[in-house]
Amino acid sequence: MGSLKLKKISKYYGDVVALSRVDLSIDEGEFCVLLGPSGCGKSTLLQIIAGLIPQYEGSVLIDDQPVDHLTPRERDVAMVFQSYALYPHMTVAQNLAFGLRMHGVPRAVRERRIIETAELLGITHLLARKPRQLSGGQRQRVAMGRALVRRPNLFLFDEPLSNLDARLRVNVRLELKRVHQQTRGTILYVTHDQVEAMTLGDKVVVMQNGSVLQAGHPETIYDSPADIFVATFIGSPPMNIFEGKVERINGQFMFQGEDFSLNLKDIPQNLSEKRVELGIRPEDIEIVHKAEDALRVKVEMISNVGSEKFIHARLGSNDMTIRIAKEADIRLGEIIQVVMKPSMLNIFYNGRRI
Ligand code: ADP
Ligand code: MG
Repeated sequence: MGSLKLKKISKYYGDVVALSRVDLSIDEGEFCVLLGPSGCGKSTLLQIIAGLIPQYEGSVLIDDQPVDHLTPRERDVAMVFQSYALYPHMTVAQNLAFGLRMHGVPRAVRERRIIETAELLGITHLLARKPRQLSGGQRQRVAMGRALVRRPNLFLFDEPLSNLDARLRVNVRLELKRVHQQTRGTILYVTHDQVEAMTLGDKVVVMQNGSVLQAGHPETIYDSPADIFVATFIGSPPMNIFEGKVERINGQFMFQGEDFSLNLKDIPQNLSEKRVELGIRPEDIEIVHKAEDALRVKVEMISNVGSEKFIHARLGSNDMTIRIAKEADIRLGEIIQVVMKPSMLNIFYNGRRI
């Protein structure tokens, strides 16, 4: 139980296009993360799936059945929000029981599920407390528990961790992943945080301005981004992008950038004389001592994040970020030679990756 399909969902608020013909497909038991900047339509989409607001056109299918005519309760979808509004006058146990009571689940089943869910989330010792006696992380766990205890067709999470501090966020994220591995519920999880998306998702769906740009395995999205927006939204620091033109010299395709040129060896289509963008991730640029086609760049800044360092270098008028090992001995102002790994080059034409 619990596959989800969206067919051409659109939504307008007056002149604002909140969603434009969104297609999406999530398999039963899949952990799907919807990733996009603030305002791109993520929450609107979740509310439509839950049945809280109507779409303008298109259809929502759960287990291949259209649910557009069903009320939120009939859809049997559980939603967890950023603001985990627990009932303040109820204990944790009563908060967990509330949704089950509303759905008419018998008392014995309720009690068993509450114990199981509390154990799964490590909150058994908190069952008798009121929300004000809990930390932020504990409250968020209870909010997730309230969804899990119901065993719905589908879980919808709307940026549930954004109120937690960074360290707690990492902990609760790992916990959620573990809970999913044990329960195998179908999850649609919304975030604007690309690290969260990459670490949690079996599938990542990238949105911008109400449209889906790309859906796929996190590795595919990272290695083969469909367009420049996805390429630069995912990855920190982002992919380096250089503007230039393709030229054919002696039968070879060359990229002519503003202050450098590069042999493009394999190029899947004839882009001769076309303006393109060349993309390469910071970890796919290598520092070399001697190589025929090495580029000479000047080290302008080094940022050390502890586990690794990033060089911010200048290549003519272009900025370039290069990842290096934490023990690498590179100095400010130094001129270094680098090569871009040919197999890791991305070429974008009209903004789309080719
Ligand atoms: P996200 O969750 O990705 O930040 P939302 O789904 O909340 O984005 O919003 C998508 C777009 O729709 C935004 O431009 C937002 O301002 C607009 N919007 C959302 N809700 C309403 C509303 N109730 N009335 C008018 N505009 C809205
Ligand atoms: Mg939102």
